[in-house]
Amino acid sequence: MPTTKPATPNPPFHPVEALARARHEFGEHGGVNASIESSVTFTVMKADTLPELFHGAATPEQGCYLYGRHYNPTVIHFARMLAAMEGTESAHCTASGMGAISGIALQLCDTGDHAVVARTIYGGTFALFNRYLPKKAGITATFVDVTDHAEVEAAFTPRTKLLYVESLANPTLVVADLPKLAAIAHRHNALLVVDNTFSPLIFSPAQLGADVVVHSLTKFISGGADSVAGAVCGPRALLDQLYDVNEGSLMLLGPTMDPRIAFELSLRVPHLPLRMVEHSRRAQVFAERLQAMGVRVRYPGLPSHPEHELFNSLANPEFGAGGLIALDLETAPRAAKLMEALQLDERFGFIAVSLGYFDTLMSASATSTSSELPQEERWKAGLSDGLVRMSVGYTGSLEQRWEQLERAVKKVL
Ligand SMILES: *Cc1c(COP(=O)(O)O)cnc(C)c1O
Repeated sequence: MPTTKPATPNPPFHPVEALARARHEFGEHGGVNASIESSVTFTVMKADTLPELFHGAATPEQGCYLYGRHYNPTVIHFARMLAAMEGTESAHCTASGMGAISGIALQLCDTGDHAVVARTIYGGTFALFNRYLPKKAGITATFVDVTDHAEVEAAFTPRTKLLYVESLANPTLVVADLPKLAAIAHRHNALLVVDNTFSPLIFSPAQLGADVVVHSLTKFISGGADSVAGAVCGPRALLDQLYDVNEGSLMLLGPTMDPRIAFELSLRVPHLPLRMVEHSRRAQVFAERLQAMGVRVRYPGLPSHPEHELFNSLANPEFGAGGLIALDLETAPRAAKLMEALQLDERFGFIAVSLGYFDTLMSASATSTSSELPQEERWKAGLSDGLVRMSVGYTGSLEQRWEQLERAVKKVL
């Protein structure tokens, strides 16, 4: 059979161009922004449409909606933007990042199933796989170093349903080799699930082999530290299972996104590219200058980062290396002293968890967002007690902020 080749090869995926091509929805009266549909229930013209909605025969694509926990037009509109950004067939929004992560984990695994999970990971995700899922659902996990592909491969069992990693890992900024990890997962008939919270636009995991991409939208995508929200992006057939009325995790556990939040966040996505570029520009300059001062810095944009070359080969080029830098001050008291000098003396940023905010946020990961990891796991993950995770903001001028940072660092060196 002769095959017809396209005249030009497909252009490389570009998340911002994909967003611009996505269907734009106008507001009810022709407004440039979509309307907020705040109703939780929807009328039908004929009584027999209701049973069709329950059985999935009448769908939102046909303009048929059932109930707010199931589908909402404003939430679907926002989910389409996220699917376009990640280049996936479909996306569903959730009330939080953990809602998305727990929902997809429970959908993919039944009691007795198993997950292979990156050791360097958000503390809440670690606790979910390490304690909650084994105890409540009989789903077990093996934690691995994602840079050691032999260790990853060896952890699979006949019951392994998913390999779970962060594209850029919290908090040590390890870069996952997604194409290789996808190949390992697929060899074992498992799916690769990637948390892309630290690196929206920078990585397009679904283009690199991931089957499912999850986000905490609470971070960079919101950018305002004002809403908790999440999303799961992936193939339509798989994601539709999440809303099955009898067996869907999102349908039955109910971490639903409110349409008002979906509307708010839909207005943040168009300027996400500008924000990511500026977060990255500043983080790159700070990382280079801190390293030159003799501070131990981890940043994927530095040639000294162990996966620097891998990062460059996988990342979309124009968004830089991200807004997070990890400074290793070796001991907890030195980390505390630096953060206090930066917050109290310099007004450089805030000692607070979370990331992706317009101002700089700093936390000592070992005693905060990664405290769910036992000390031995933290050491294995290269997470010292003196590690300060800094989410670099973009308020003030770069040189003004650098002066503040340099002065504070000199006090602790
Ligand atoms: C914050 C975070 C989560 C959890 O998201 P919530 O929105 O707080 O539920 C998951 N993964 C990563 C990498 C995070 O930073």
